[in-house]
Amino acid sequence: MSTRWASLTDWLLGTEPQQRVRAARCGLACALMLYSIASMGYFVWVGMAPAWPVAALALVGLGGMVACFAVIRSGANLRLADPSLTGVQMSFALIVGAVAYTLAGRGRGAVFPIMMVVLMFGLYSLKPREVRLMSLLALLLFGGAMALMAWISPAIYRPEVEFAHFLVIAIMLPAVSMLAGQLSRLRDRLRRQKAELQEALARIQDLALRDELTGLANRRHMQGLIDLERERCVRTGGSFCLAVIDIDRFKRINDTHGHPAGDAVLRDFAREALSCLRGGDVLARWGGEEFLLMLPDTRLTLARLGVERLRTRAAALTVLHEGTPLGFTLSAGVVEHLAGESVVDSIARADRALYQAKQQGRNKVVSG
Ligand code: GH3
Ligand code: MG
Ligand code: MG
Repeated sequence: MSTRWASLTDWLLGTEPQQRVRAARCGLACALMLYSIASMGYFVWVGMAPAWPVAALALVGLGGMVACFAVIRSGANLRLADPSLTGVQMSFALIVGAVAYTLAGRGRGAVFPIMMVVLMFGLYSLKPREVRLMSLLALLLFGGAMALMAWISPAIYRPEVEFAHFLVIAIMLPAVSMLAGQLSRLRDRLRRQKAELQEALARIQDLALRDELTGLANRRHMQGLIDLERERCVRTGGSFCLAVIDIDRFKRINDTHGHPAGDAVLRDFAREALSCLRGGDVLARWGGEEFLLMLPDTRLTLARLGVERLRTRAAALTVLHEGTPLGFTLSAGVVEHLAGESVVDSIARADRALYQAKQQGRNKVVSG
């Protein structure tokens, strides 16, 4: 039952969310028009309104609203400045309402609440200036209808009653404009707050994933990425490599030039490394002056070449810190993750290879 209802509303309103809201709102306006026509039918039935003019108005009124619905459903509205057609629908409904006022005779009081509902349609989507314009249009149309009818049919549209009616709408319409202004400010504030929250959330997410000093992936984020890669390889039978990279005698840089100089080396190394790695490779700060490199979809021979390239680049790099040129080298242990092996075990093998690189005199890449 519920899926049948869902497919019926999909057929009626479409599936694109924004267009659905527009179509639903226009559908509601059509229903309001239908209700107003039924009221006019009642006035005809009890002999208060003329049949043919009311029938013609009903045809034009409903035809116009259905045309608006068709424009929205066909998607032709997307080419217009106001794709919701709110302004068009409202002005049209106000014109139909003013004509209905001239036809409803003693039943004309029923037109006022309908006019107010029409204006409410604008409260949620029009800008305050547009609502003011719409209210002014309503005032002119209904004022005109009242003056006209007081002139040609004073027995039913008594001038003093019409004047009182006019005073009532002249007070109600500015109140509607004021409410529209308040709603619009509220909408703007909500939109601004939503954008600020989204920005803050993106910043927090970024902070949670990145290392602050180097901007590289942090340890937690890297662990997640490696697990994903491992799962991918289990599915596809592919392979990936891991390299533990450690800066040689880093403590000496700190001791000789100060901690900020060490920080500059870490930052510049990260930047240099990113510029020489392949697009899919991920480098993370694993801790202190130690980095972990993941080379997805790569066999050991190629991974070794990549890390070797990185080692050469690092050895050739000069970091300028407060006018002092600083050089450094790195050592690395590279392994290919074996099917069935845990990530922890792969990293432990890479660590052992790194230890050998250090043992062999540093500035070396050893595969394990
Ligand atoms: P080895 O060649 O054996 O790796 O020697 P090393 O001096 O690089 O290694 P060791 O583990 O003795 O020293 C690492 C140093 O890195 C010690 C620590 O103070 C420093 N360090 C860790 N994190 C940071 C950081 O964020 N900034 C700076 N400037 N230094 C750091
Ligand atoms: Mg070190
Ligand atoms: Mg270390």
